[in-house]
Amino acid sequence: MERTELKPCPFCGGKAKFERPIGEEPKVECYYPSYQTEGKYYLVQRFFIRCDKCRFRTIEFAVKLEINRDDLSLKESLDNCNDVKNFTEKWNRRADAE
Ligand SMILES: [Zn+2]
Repeated sequence: MERTELKPCPFCGGKAKFERPIGEEPKVECYYPSYQTEGKYYLVQRFFIRCDKCRFRTIEFAVKLEINRDDLSLKESLDNCNDVKNFTEKWNRRADAE
């Protein structure tokens, strides 16, 4: 499923996009859903949304992508990642719905 496009900046109408904090490498984290199951591995990267024109930016939020434990390749893409979808929805939620 395609990620929904970000709506333009609410202040100036400029193009908004996801950006990563400069110089910050993604981290690998392991989670154990329950005691006896195998841990799931995630690549954790922080993002924020910034307007190209007026440079307005949001707070940073963490995005977790599941990865294979053997070769650390991505199991899911940024486009179908729930964290990204949630934040896109929040950004796109406007008081004056179109
Ligand atoms: Zn703007």
